[in-house]
Amino acid sequence: MSNESDVNVCFCNKVMVERMCWYGSNAGRRSLNCPDGSRGCGYIHWIEEPLEERAAIIIEDLKKQMTRQANQHVFEMEELMHSFNISILTDSGDDDKDDDDDDDEGTDEDDHED
Ligand SMILES: [Zn+2]
Repeated sequence: MSNESDVNVCFCNKVMVERMCWYGSNAGRRSLNCPDGSRGCGYIHWIEEPLEERAAIIIEDLKKQMTRQANQHVFEMEELMHSFNISILTDSGDDDKDDDDDDDEGTDEDDHED
């Protein structure tokens, strides 16, 4: 652990950033990465030993559950919005705030100077 300072610098001579891997067999495993990633030297130094396959599977599973729950939340929110007649997606076009005062009726004769 005494030569940690050597480890914290990548081949670009930059201080590496710590990341947690979320994919595949390395899920849940922390690593030090080149701050420029693949644009830099792309160096990765794994801080932790690879997890047991079972642990990786559990993390993958948790991740799926979280995604599913997040989707569920979005769905519930949309349902709620619908029940309140709120729509997130529509740009409110019914909010007709024209700055010019031509909304008084019957005065369209002197609308424009010909
Ligand atoms: Zn680098």
